[in-house]
Amino acid sequence: MTGKTHIMGGVASCTAVAYFYGYDPILMTASGTLGALIPDICHTKSKIGRRLPILSTLISSIFGHRTFTHSLLFLLLTAFAAHLYLTDQSILVGLMAGMASHLLLDAGTTNGIKLFFPSSIKFRLPLYIKTGGKAEQAVLAALTILSCYFIAGLMA
Ligand SMILES: [Zn+2]
Repeated sequence: MTGKTHIMGGVASCTAVAYFYGYDPILMTASGTLGALIPDICHTKSKIGRRLPILSTLISSIFGHRTFTHSLLFLLLTAFAAHLYLTDQSILVGLMAGMASHLLLDAGTTNGIKLFFPSSIKFRLPLYIKTGGKAEQAVLAALTILSCYFIAGLMA
């Protein structure tokens, strides 16, 4: 998926979790937006890859695209590291919800992800779309509507 779809995926997942579990929606959405972009550090042309070109080039050359940074292993290592340094639960949960939304969205694309890295098994959802196509526009619209729904619920 493209960066804007990942951002909206992070917003939708964080507003949903904040709505159902009572976390701070502002802190969650802020950290979730960042979390939704982190896995694409493996792609030098991604939003986060362009901001951190040296780190992105290094990770891309070692692991390639959609492997380590799109795996459960990376998710768990990030959760462990974040747990050590982040004391605010809303920020921590938001970061992880955003990252999880990224993996879910990319698993719904033609190329899928290496969810079980270092295993080379490719994971793809039964329903998948082409990145950047018209179907992604529909996914982006649906995520935007979901976000509005949960934001309205949080404001009520
Ligand atoms: Zn990705």
